[in-house]
Amino acid sequence: MLKDRVALITGGTRGIGLETVRVFLENGARVILFGSKKETVERAIEVLKKEGFSVNGYYPNLNDFESVSRVVDEIRSQYGYIDILVNNAGISANKKIEETTSEDFSRIMDLNVNAIFNMVKAVVPGMKEKGGVILNTSSMVSIYGQPSGVGYPASKFAVNGMTKSLARELAPYGIRVNAVAPGITATDMVQSLPKEMIEPLIKTIPLGRIGEPRDIANAFLFLASDMASYVTGEILSVDGAARS
Ligand code: NAD
Repeated sequence: MLKDRVALITGGTRGIGLETVRVFLENGARVILFGSKKETVERAIEVLKKEGFSVNGYYPNLNDFESVSRVVDEIRSQYGYIDILVNNAGISANKKIEETTSEDFSRIMDLNVNAIFNMVKAVVPGMKEKGGVILNTSSMVSIYGQPSGVGYPASKFAVNGMTKSLARELAPYGIRVNAVAPGITATDMVQSLPKEMIEPLIKTIPLGRIGEPRDIANAFLFLASDMASYVTGEILSVDGAARS
């Protein structure tokens, strides 16, 4: 479905991002993954190599436009074009408002919102040449909010806003912009949350289970492919009909 497309995926070292890297590779894409540090990037490349895949990886500071832009230019000159950008890197929060510092709040916004701005700004000038696809990782909480950790849903509401606005701005250049809004998904991010928080939530999911990274990666695959050629500005919920 993505034969010879060049895809850049942030937060590609584990969880949803790593599975998306894998699914894109299985579907013929040439993939470059970004992670937060050298060791995790190298580990992910090694894991994929053992599975028979070849990928490149980088670890620019996503909050520094110059750093992002330099790496994006390097990728463009090596691969010729960037067809697909998946903004997936993200962190969550679950502290009550009284315990949340302004630094905590800014840290979430920096990665979940400002980093997407930097990535899009760096990739779009090249992508305007012959079109492309930008995909963002939103969340179920971007629709319903959550009862603690206000920075996280706030950041994901912003992701939806950027998705819908950029879809309209970039449509004339053949660039589609969509987001996937996962429900609770079995990754390190969820494993780090207290069991008392997760178990009652699972009971409320009509499909009776939490999502697997592949459930989310398959949604990205669809949106990245020509199967979705008339879909843009959409926030696709992949959450087992969870409504909490
Ligand atoms: P994860 O913690 O397993 O992976 C996070 C990824 O982000 C890693 O690859 C990591 O390298 C990268 N990252 C973290 N901090 C970074 C930094 N400062 N700079 C650059 N990269 C950094 O998380 P996940 O569950 O796979 O989440 C991926 C995305 O999915 C996030 O945007 C998250 O908000 C979203 N999401 C997850 C769930 C869930 O239940 N797991 C639900 C909804 C949305």
